[in-house]
This record gives sequence, structure tokens and C-alpha cells, in this order.
Amino acid sequence: MKNGVVIVGAGHAGVQAAASLREEGYDGPVLLIGDEKELPYHKPPLSKTFIKDAAAQPQPLRGETFYTGHTIEFRPGTLVERIDAASRRLELAGGGNLAYDHLILATGSRPRILPLPGADLAGVLSLRSVADARLIRDQSVACEEIVVIGGGFIGLEIAATLSAGGRRVTVVEALDRLLGRAVAPLIAEHVRQRLAASGIRILLKTTVERIEGEDGHVAGVLTSAGERLPAKMVIVGIGVVPNVELAETAGLTIANGIRVDQAMRSSAPEILAIGDNASYRHWQTGGDVRLESVENATDQAKLAARTIVGHDGSYAAVPWFWSDIGDMKLQMVGLAAGSDRQILSGETADNRFSVFHFIGDRLVAIESVNRPADHMLGRKMLGLGFSPTAEQVAGGAEALKAALAALPPA
Ligand SMILES: Cc1cc2nc3c(=O)[nH]c(=O)nc-3n(C[C@H](O)[C@H](O)[C@H](O)COP(=O)(O)OP(=O)(O)OC[C@H]3O[C@@H](n4cnc5c(N)ncnc54)[C@H](O)[C@@H]3O)c2cc1C
Repeated sequence: MKNGVVIVGAGHAGVQAAASLREEGYDGPVLLIGDEKELPYHKPPLSKTFIKDAAAQPQPLRGETFYTGHTIEFRPGTLVERIDAASRRLELAGGGNLAYDHLILATGSRPRILPLPGADLAGVLSLRSVADARLIRDQSVACEEIVVIGGGFIGLEIAATLSAGGRRVTVVEALDRLLGRAVAPLIAEHVRQRLAASGIRILLKTTVERIEGEDGHVAGVLTSAGERLPAKMVIVGIGVVPNVELAETAGLTIANGIRVDQAMRSSAPEILAIGDNASYRHWQTGGDVRLESVENATDQAKLAARTIVGHDGSYAAVPWFWSDIGDMKLQMVGLAAGSDRQILSGETADNRFSVFHFIGDRLVAIESVNRPADHMLGRKMLGLGFSPTAEQVAGGAEALKAALAALPPA
């Protein structure tokens, strides 16, 4: 093990993989390479708070001394360009190469580009990194009107944050509802109504024909309905694509992401892939997925470390995700795909409720708005494979807790 483990990508997955290798007792060299210049940081606050707070600083995932203290070599500002899988070497942009025994690809994803005239104008931005967030924060101060293209989680978080910061925001969404298929229609409609009531204009079933500019800077957006929306800033939030180009240079199997097995190994067993860039067969649905969440990145990183030190393991984490949109904390646990029965618990009018999703009698997911107890109980129930009855759901958190407490010890 003289060359040790090289991790490419110093985001949520890469940093956790480095930490977990040490926790698992791996004592060879660990090198963490990232192309960003910052100390690795939390991404979720960028869209929720950072872009409206002039004093906000990125929140580091781990303090600087964590890396030195655990003999993890961290190399920021370094882009890996090519993998030579046969000789187990990496080529760095600007020259130089490195050998590895195991390679972990934690390269994440990047915003999907809008293939439209005007998309390259100054002031047309997207949000992935703290550098993007700084641009949005600094430039939005001088923008009275902002258009957000895309009504998914990130687009809506940005819209709510900038609107709370005093900007006039319009969201343009191509589908007839917000949040794609990520949550139940009831929740999507609740979010739409609440954002609209807070002053955000939301255009559904509307696409963008072109982005218009003046002197090279965005000036507005022309919609499919023929309306011209003035805007000095346009934020594109139409989803992400996995960063697989580096994996392609190694000839790894790609299928909506770097294809991995249940232990996070790619088609070359000494190369593992984790986080937003990895696609795999999901234990709960039996379908192929690529999940984009902090939980997925963290849990896959822990498993990858275990695989490298030689433990058998199979990815079976309960997926969960959260999003803060205005005064709504949305929390999702499990995967609702294929659910054929939903039970509502609580009242939408209170802005506190959950939708429990079942396939037959089997609980598969819970989506909550401002009901963190339901979410935490959902993690427990799905982890244990326990499905509550309709009566237990109707009884709220207390009835669910009682049902869990009555289970025989595992
Ligand atoms: C604004 C925003 C808000 C979010 N909010 C939430 C939330 O509320 N809840 C939630 O669960 N998830 C949220 N997410 C998603 C979550 O942040 C991602 O799922 C998570 O960051 C994935 O971790 P990762 O390590 O796979 O990728 P990343 O964290 O993106 O890290 C990948 C890193 O690899 C680097 N890299 C790529 N290629 C190379 C290369 N060739 N050489 C060197 N470095 C390279 C990238 O620059 C990047 O720094 C949010 C994401 C964003 C952008």
C-alpha cells in the first residue's frame, strides 16, 4: 500500500471518505485533491442564507487542523485531468502525475446549462460553489428584479432567500407544478401558494424563449407566453449533471453517473465512486438511482472507506434530504417512487404536515413540512422496516413513538 488512497473531489463525499478511512484504521497515505481554492465547506447554506448576508463566510466541513491532525494531505486548487487506470496514475492539469493504490472519485455534479440564446450573457448565473454564491450575493444587491429559471429545490431556495432580502423575484417553471416529481403534488401546491403569498411571482407551464441583453449584460427574459420579464440577474436552476468526464478517461462504465456496485466499486475495482456522481441499484426500490444529497454523499463515503480497508458491506442507507424554502422546512425520507397510497397527517393550513407514502401496506417514504418529529420517526421506521397503520399515522408522533416502543427488541 505504498501509494495509498487518492480522493479526487473535496466536497461532502471526499472529505467524509478521508475522515472515514482514518476512523476505519487505514494507516497508509491519504491524499485529498480538490479544484476549489477554499477549505472544503458546507454547500446547503449557500442558497438558504449566504446569498443574502453580506457578512456570511463559508462554513468549513472540518477545521484546518483536522487534515494535519489526521495525516490527510489536502491539496486545494488542483484539477485532475486524466486517469491512467492501467498504471494507476493520475495526471494533473498543468503537469505532474500521481500514483494510487485505490482511487475514490468524489467529483460531484455541476449545474445543467440552459441551451438558449442569451444564456452566455453577463448576469446569467447558476449556483454550485461558494464562488458562484459570492457572485450572486454581490451582484444581486444592485438588481431590483431577478428571474429564476427552474422551480426545483435550489431554484426555490434561491428565490425565497433573495425575495426575503428585498429583491422582486419571478420563478419560471416549465411543468404544471413546482418541485418536479420530488414531492407529492399536495406539497408542491402548498409551496407554490406560500411563496406566491410571500410576494414571489411563479409562472408554471412557462418556458423561456430567450434571454435578452444590453451591452453584453442580461436585461430580461422572454417567456413562451410572449411576456418580457425585466431582470438584471437571471439564475438558472434546472438541475445538475454528474461530473463523469474524468471517469470516462479511465474507461469506467457510465450510466447516468459512474456505475458502482453495492460496495461503491466502479467497473475497475480499485476505483470507487461516491456522492452526486455515482449511480447504483437502490436496495429499497430495486431501480437504478443517482441521488444528490448530503446524506447520500456521507453514507457512501463511509461505506467506500470500509470497502478499502477490507470489510464486506452493502449500501443500504435510508435516504433523506432537506430543503429550507422560506418559512417551510421540507424533509424527505425514503423514496416515494411507485407509491400507490398516501396518508396526510396534520393540516396544510397550519404549514405543519406530513405525507406518508405506502406501496400497499409498506411504508416507503415520508415528506414533511415543518414536522421534524415525523421525519426523525420516519428514519427510524424505514431503518427498521416498520410500517405504521393508518390509525397510528392519524395518532401523530406520539402514536408512532408508542408503536416503535412496542416493537420486540431487534
Ligand atoms: C446550493 C446548494 C444547496 C444544497 N442544499 C442541499 C440540502 O439542503 N440538503 C441536501 O441534502 N443537499 C443539498 N445540496 C446537495 C449537496 O450539497 C450535494 O448532494 C453534495 O454536495 C454532494 O457531495 P459530493 O461530494 O458528491 O459533491 P460536491 O460537494 O459538489 O463536491 C465535489 C467536488 O469535486 C470537485 N471536482 C470535480 N471534478 C474535479 C477534478 N477533476 N479535480 C479536482 N476536483 C474536482 C468539485 O469542484 C467539488 O468541489 C445542495 C447543493 C447546493 C449546490
